[in-house]
Parts: sequence; structure tokens; C-alpha cells
Amino acid sequence: MSNERILGIHHMTAITNDAQANVDFYTGTLGLRLTKLTVNFDDPSAYHLYYGDGVATPGSGLTFFPYQGRQGKLGPGQVIATGLAIPADSMGWWVDRFASEGVDFDNPFSRGDEEVLPFRAHDNLPLELVASAAYTPGAPFEGGPVPIERSISRMHSVTIAENYSDATLKLVTETLGFEPVKDEGQRIRLQAANKGPGAYLDLVIDPAMPFGHGGFGTVHHIAWATEDEDTQKTWHETIQTQGYNISPIMNRDYFKSIYFREPGGVLFEIATMGPGMLLDEDEASLGTSLRLPQMYEPIRARIEASMPKLRLPSGVTVPVELAESK
Ligand code: ZN
Repeated sequence: MSNERILGIHHMTAITNDAQANVDFYTGTLGLRLTKLTVNFDDPSAYHLYYGDGVATPGSGLTFFPYQGRQGKLGPGQVIATGLAIPADSMGWWVDRFASEGVDFDNPFSRGDEEVLPFRAHDNLPLELVASAAYTPGAPFEGGPVPIERSISRMHSVTIAENYSDATLKLVTETLGFEPVKDEGQRIRLQAANKGPGAYLDLVIDPAMPFGHGGFGTVHHIAWATEDEDTQKTWHETIQTQGYNISPIMNRDYFKSIYFREPGGVLFEIATMGPGMLLDEDEASLGTSLRLPQMYEPIRARIEASMPKLRLPSGVTVPVELAESK
């Protein structure tokens, strides 16, 4: 291994079936900020919705592609839970909130020194609130419906299911530099360089788990954070040298990305920390209008005409309709 490091989780991206329900759930029920409204850079007929903390810190980011199609089914080679970090004394508050908001949740339970509240989003995406003493406050969104002292600070962990873990473990420890934290046989926790909540990868190993399939309500990929474009180039070489089929370096405007599939089947991305979500909007206006990459600006009118209307947390509906008189 050279000296580049995977810092922790950069973001996770999932497929959802309903953009409006998605905005309402993540900004309303969970109190995250809509930090960017853009299109799928590889398919501008679909939105790409970003949520995060108040300043869109990498590691707080949940992103979604709304697509119709079939409901996904969980299985090996998929992310079976995405953990979100909440303050240690907040579990009761969140249980009450989920009950009053009609969220589909299970009773909280202890896993080691953490309390876990499993729940499903509007599209059945499996999520967990995780409370632990290791919680550190992030940069909460003060304009949301959740009080700051209860707010989700960042992603806590991603949990991947595998029938067999040897090849995945070899990749993440020997190549990507994750350290084992806990090994309970069927459940292994690893952490990236930043350590602690936000840097956890949990592997659940179950040789008998039946295959699932992609679709809405499942995670499309997990992005891991690397410092900058130089370290990303090194990662690209390292991973390619090991025989993985890795994408070219892709410019996502807010970060640069490379993609490859880990041996168990989960799509991994390695994304740069910068330039970040403040590239084209200031902090106050994050997520308040449809942003397009330069390549799609010439066809903005066509894209906007084809997009379903979305009511944003501000009450504004996008795309903004042109005045009739023009
Ligand atoms: Zn991504």
C-alpha cells in the first residue's frame, strides 16, 4: 500500500421511485438539508437529489436517482443498511417522531456499545439511526424541522451483505487500508482512516442468503472519500493494477469519481473531497434551484420541460414555470 488513504464515507447513492416523497421524507421526517438538486450526469432525464448537513459536508451525503421500475430486493452483494449518526441520548425522541410520522421502524436494540433503530424510507430503503458515545456533532441544518440537539450529524456506517467475505476483506484491508475493529464471525466492522462513525464499513456474512436484485429502495453505490485528485489518480492505478474493471476518472463537478465493483458485487466509488457542493451555490441557497453541469446548460429548457414538478422544502416548486405572457 502506498500512503494514500480512504478517509471514510463520502456519500451513498440509492434508487428511489418517487422524487417528491423522497424530498418530503429526507428533509421533513429526517430533517436533512436538500443540498443539491441536479440531474443524473449520465442520464439528464432523471433528477439527482442530494441531502446532507447544513453545509453539505462530504460524509453527510445521501443521494438519490428517482426511477420508476421494479422494487429492489436485498441480497448478497448489496448494501443492506445505511447508518446515520444521532446523539447518544436521542433514541427516545426519534422513536416518538417515527411513531407520529408513520415511519415503518423496528424497536431499537443494542449492538455492542451502540443503540440501533432500524427503519425503512418511503420506498422501503433500509436505514438505521445509530446512537453512540462516539457521536460528534457535525454542521446541522438549522432551518429544518429537527432540533439541532437531535439532528443527524453524518452517515455512520454502511452494512454490506456477502455470501463469502474473503475476497472483499482482502480488498478493503490490504488494498483500501481499512482496519478491522470488531469481528463477531458473521458480522465484521472495519474502519477507514478517519476512524469512528462516518468511517465504518460493516460486513455481514451469510452463505445462505438468497440473491436479491437492484431496483428502487436499494443502494446503487457507496462512495469512499479520498483527499484530492492526486490521491485519486494513485487509487485508479492501484485498483486497475489489481485487475479490477475500473471506470475512467469522471468529473461530477462537485467532486471527481472512479467506480469499480468489489468482489462481492457492491459498486464502490472513490470520490475527491473537493471542490464540493458550494461550487455553484452559496451556503444560503444550496438546493434551492435546479443546477445543471455545463454540458447540459444548452439544453436546459428541454430538460426542465421534461422534469416532473417538485415542491421543495422552501415551498417553491421547480422547475420554475415560465410566465405565460412570455
Ligand atoms: Zn456517487
